[in-house]
Amino acid sequence: SGCGICVKKCPFDAINIINLPEALGDPVHRYGENMFELFGLPIVTEKEVVGLLGPNGIGKSTILRILSGELKPNLGNYQNPPSWEEIFEFFRGSQLQDYFKKLANKEIRVAHKPQAVDLLPKYVKGNVKDLLEKTDELNKLDEISDLLNLEISLKKDIKELSGGELQRVAIAATLLKDVDFYYFDEPSSWLDIYQRLNMAKVIRRYAEKFKKSILVVEHDLSVLDTISDYIHVLYGEPNAYGVVSNKKSVRVGINEYLKGFLRDENVRFRREELKFHVSRTIETTKKGTIIKYPSFVKCYNGFKLYVDSGELYENEVVTAFGPNSIGKTTFAKILAGVEKPDKGKIEENINIAYKPQYISIEFDGTVEEFLHKNVTYYGTTAFRTEILKPFKLENLLHREVSTLSGGELQRLMIATVLAEDADLYVLDEPTAFLDVEERLSVAKSIRKIVENKHAAAIVIDHDILFLDYIADRAMVFYGKPGVEGHATKPMSLRNAMNKFLSQVNITFRRDKETKRPRANKPDSYLDRKQREVGEYYYYD
Ligand code: ADP
Ligand code: ADP
Ligand code: MG
Ligand code: MG
Repeated sequence: SGCGICVKKCPFDAINIINLPEALGDPVHRYGENMFELFGLPIVTEKEVVGLLGPNGIGKSTILRILSGELKPNLGNYQNPPSWEEIFEFFRGSQLQDYFKKLANKEIRVAHKPQAVDLLPKYVKGNVKDLLEKTDELNKLDEISDLLNLEISLKKDIKELSGGELQRVAIAATLLKDVDFYYFDEPSSWLDIYQRLNMAKVIRRYAEKFKKSILVVEHDLSVLDTISDYIHVLYGEPNAYGVVSNKKSVRVGINEYLKGFLRDENVRFRREELKFHVSRTIETTKKGTIIKYPSFVKCYNGFKLYVDSGELYENEVVTAFGPNSIGKTTFAKILAGVEKPDKGKIEENINIAYKPQYISIEFDGTVEEFLHKNVTYYGTTAFRTEILKPFKLENLLHREVSTLSGGELQRLMIATVLAEDADLYVLDEPTAFLDVEERLSVAKSIRKIVENKHAAAIVIDHDILFLDYIADRAMVFYGKPGVEGHATKPMSLRNAMNKFLSQVNITFRRDKETKRPRANKPDSYLDRKQREVGEYYYYD
């Protein structure tokens, strides 16, 4: 395949990339013989927020480690690493030369929030408040902890924190430092839909108020869009080489990313454009019912969940969202028959396939053996085209399941669940650990399978673009996290988002070109107008 000018098979199993590593000149860094190579770096400008967008394994964390001075770039010469003088020479004529000079002379200071915050308790011990006070160089702990809702977490020991709490503590620790450049690696992981938008608002306002330079790696496109002024797209071949695009305005950058074509670079990295639809009107009356459930209640010690009655129809995807600890997973378990409600009864005369939120497989064997055991039509052409390819499992077949990364395990689990022959698919937080490309590809696969099998799906998630992309209808969870949760019946996505966003106090419009949802700038014309009429999600 290919368009003539293309010379290399593209990693997305789509078309071809014209920039071969050989044609890109010297890399900024190469880990070693036949190892990952990075071409180019983002431009770090003062007083701007710049985002990095690209697949897993393309060099984003490597970039942050280089810019924060943790990794000295070797310009490809891993055997005889260059001196700083040679590095300055390499970046001559670009702003990066000045940056590295100052970095080498310790004239600039940086703060770096690493990607894997779940590892923090291994290296840092003690009470959270004591730990944060040590980094509080500007006396802003009260303000920042208030903005990030950390009051309860401050009292705890760091080893008692949940993923979402650890993430917010790590973000706070970074913002508390008085430095010139702030680097955030995937700040939305483990955060719920509310905390993500709030975090984006907090970092953004901080940059504006204190005129700081911030670089953010992010896979949640609505977060990336809200935080950044500009972005760089990363492309290439994951785990082999990565190329940093020119700096683009955040709107143009994300739109080009969705189109799969970078205009300035003349690079196409995906065959299909990812399109959003303004409203998918489904005529529910004409469709068969998959499941009809009565209102029910579930109590745990200290927590109570109330669910309104609802009905799911064939061919539809219903999403569910809300804060953490509000009962979403409990609802999924009850629907899947893993838990029983206290009041009310769910009829289970249908086949249900369920992917739990927390995936850990105790499986002694390879991915191929796992699939062989769990998928009845393993080895057929249908399996190859519907599951193996879209979930990029071909290259994983010979890997031991126990060695898979979070994203690889997630892909395997979703693939296995979607390969079941079911009437209802229940997927709890499928986008965790996935990059943007994988998220949108999972969304497509879910839709396709639901439509092919005339089934229904319930998908719980926190990524607004993913939710918008996949949802026919949606349920909102609200109440008091950890104490009392309420689940609405499925309603139109617009009504559901409206209900949620009015609580968060953020308004969204649709991008004219791609129809994707975009957060309005606070107090902009549209923002004020939409609040006035109570339309938080789109105003046409
Ligand atoms: P991303 O953050 O975009 O997912 P990374 O920058 O973490 O990507 O990694 C890019 C590539 O470099 C990956 O293939 C990764 O395995 C490899 N890599 C990262 N760190 C090292 C290292 N210290 N030694 C060798 N290879 C590495
Ligand atoms: P969500 O998925 O929205 O984050 P969950 O349904 O996992 O929320 O949990 C809702 C609340 O119920 C939380 O406070 C959680 O601690 C509590 N909970 C969940 N499962 C149990 C259980 N088996 N026993 C006791 N409490 C539980
Ligand atoms: Mg990374
Ligand atoms: Mg949950």
